[in-house]
Amino acid sequence: MTPNHNNPPPATGQCATPDSCATRLELARQIAELESRVTTDALTGLWNRAHFDHIIEKELDRSLRHRQPLSLILLDIDNFKRINDAFGHQVGDRVLRELAIVANSAIRSSDALFRWGGEEFAVLAMSSGYRGAGRLAESLRGQLASHLFPSVGSLTVSLGVAEHADAESAEDWFRRADAMLYAAKHDGRNAVRIDPQGNSDQWREPGIRPNLHLVWQEAHECGEPSIDREHQELFELANDLIDEFFAHDEDSGQILPAFDRLLGHIARHFASEEEILARHGYAELEAHRRAHAGLLARAEELRNAVKAGGAGLGGLVEFLAGDVVARHLFKADRDFFPLFNTQ
Ligand code: GH3
Ligand code: MG
Ligand code: MG
Repeated sequence: MTPNHNNPPPATGQCATPDSCATRLELARQIAELESRVTTDALTGLWNRAHFDHIIEKELDRSLRHRQPLSLILLDIDNFKRINDAFGHQVGDRVLRELAIVANSAIRSSDALFRWGGEEFAVLAMSSGYRGAGRLAESLRGQLASHLFPSVGSLTVSLGVAEHADAESAEDWFRRADAMLYAAKHDGRNAVRIDPQGNSDQWREPGIRPNLHLVWQEAHECGEPSIDREHQELFELANDLIDEFFAHDEDSGQILPAFDRLLGHIARHFASEEEILARHGYAELEAHRRAHAGLLARAEELRNAVKAGGAGLGGLVEFLAGDVVARHLFKADRDFFPLFNTQ
């Protein structure tokens, strides 16, 4: 028997008698067997569809949080009924078992292979967009087409590929993959069809920011070149910080350097802005100085909260987007725009 690392070792030290220890061991064995029976397919030993349903919400959540694409490949054996008819059901069963072994060795260890039902299988391709998953599907098709199955010889499979897109439900996502599988069958079988949409296009292009990013626009410019440059840099550093939050799962040790870069920039920017405003004889300078000091104090508080692990992305974004950008940059700063807009 292979060891099951999910099961806690029997707590022999706490057993009242050797008999009660044996009972516990037996109970743990039965629970493990039951768990594996509800999550795995009895014929092939692969994960079953119930297990897919069980893990998919968590995987989708992880995909969106980390901006790592997730793709689904549906695989269906071509004309499998003929194999059953020609060689019998038992040989058909052996083909299904063998296909599971070949397909399992063709995917990466991070991917998951499921028996979806009958002669249909599914691959959950982790961190793969529709392009990568399409390549994997093509490689699966080729490897299976060239494999010699005992008694039967060669067979072919058709595959449909869809990457998860935006906030679509798992059902809608599955329907797109299934439509691609249907297209592969319709186009003559032994084929791969790929739905060319998904989050990966948006996530891979460096110029396109995810929804949570601050987007700089011309309308944000006050007309004083160095203030505008610094405001723009503030947006970039704020976006870097948001990225760090996503990339490091809100681990404060990794995020603080990005936070400090932003904080350093804000402090320098406030000082230079005050100096420029003083030079231009800005009447509201003292009030503006106080607003700057208030923001720096708030930033310092937030830094301490992040360091102590008590501030999440929500608090950070509210500070950057709400306090610094919406309330200060778009409101208080607007008051000095007329100083520089001479047209
Ligand atoms: P297509 O190319 O359109 O997919 O044709 P097909 O013959 O593969 O598809 P169809 O859905 O007509 O037939 C599927 C067959 O798979 C019929 C069913 O008896 C067989 N099958 C389903 N589950 C099992 C199983 O567990 N063992 C065996 N041996 N056969 C199975
Ligand atoms: Mg089939
Ligand atoms: Mg089928």
